[in-house]
Amino acid sequence: MSRIQVRDLRIELSGRTILHDVDLSAEPGELIYLLGRNGAGKSTLLRSICGMITPASGEVLIDGTPVRRLPSPARSLGMHLGTEPVHPGHTARRHLRWIAAAAGVGGDRIDQVLARTGVDAYGNRRIGDYSLGMRQRLGIATALLPVLDGGDGAGALVFDEPLNGLDVEGIVWLRNLLGALAADGHAVLVASHLLAEVARSADRIVLIDRQTASPAVPVAEFQGRHDDLESAYLAAIGVRADSSQVPG
Ligand code: ADP
Ligand code: MG
Repeated sequence: MSRIQVRDLRIELSGRTILHDVDLSAEPGELIYLLGRNGAGKSTLLRSICGMITPASGEVLIDGTPVRRLPSPARSLGMHLGTEPVHPGHTARRHLRWIAAAAGVGGDRIDQVLARTGVDAYGNRRIGDYSLGMRQRLGIATALLPVLDGGDGAGALVFDEPLNGLDVEGIVWLRNLLGALAADGHAVLVASHLLAEVARSADRIVLIDRQTASPAVPVAEFQGRHDDLESAYLAAIGVRADSSQVPG
């Protein structure tokens, strides 16, 4: 079981307020999707939850413990924070060994996560030669390192746009994986723009807009009187569905 709680969070970067008054709770077994336009602050929120950004005020609790007091956040939280920050010359195995060591996670987990994500087929190839979809799978494998042991069962998970670049079978695979993680009692928080997938899979949705987060609500409630999630989303961020203007 795992829980993520964000209380009254305010994030300032380079003297600018990026997020304020953010309250969010992801309960055990819940799959929550974060929506919001480019630059809204989704990645910033996920990084703050992982303890990588220190808030100006407010706090993040992981299973009731402030993230800044966790001896090793990477051990308590599965983190997929994008597809960029990996050494291109490393193989997937070497990358995962390095992360596992840094997080204090047993190296025996590496074969498990490689198999679970389908990366085992190319685990000994240079990451620099991977497609975006392969890098996504490796990022997802990294997030599973502290989670997949069937033992302590600990671990909330965050994923930053993990669907980008996945092929159709990859999207179906990830849908099933996220569903299975939630069913196992993990709190799962995912940033995505792929609204068809969000509408299909989310337990609740949070919109990041105007430097803050809306209350987490079920898809049907977010959609309200709109025909679909896309129309509801565009209305919520103040863009007309027939507009070809560049928003913002
Ligand atoms: P999203 O993930 O929703 O696209 P981000 O969280 O990446 O948005 O960015 C939110 C805002 O914070 C953007 O305006 C971005 O320019 C700004 N930002 C992100 N990182 C930094 C940083 N290290 N210093 C200053 N501003 C930043
Ligand atoms: Mg982002």
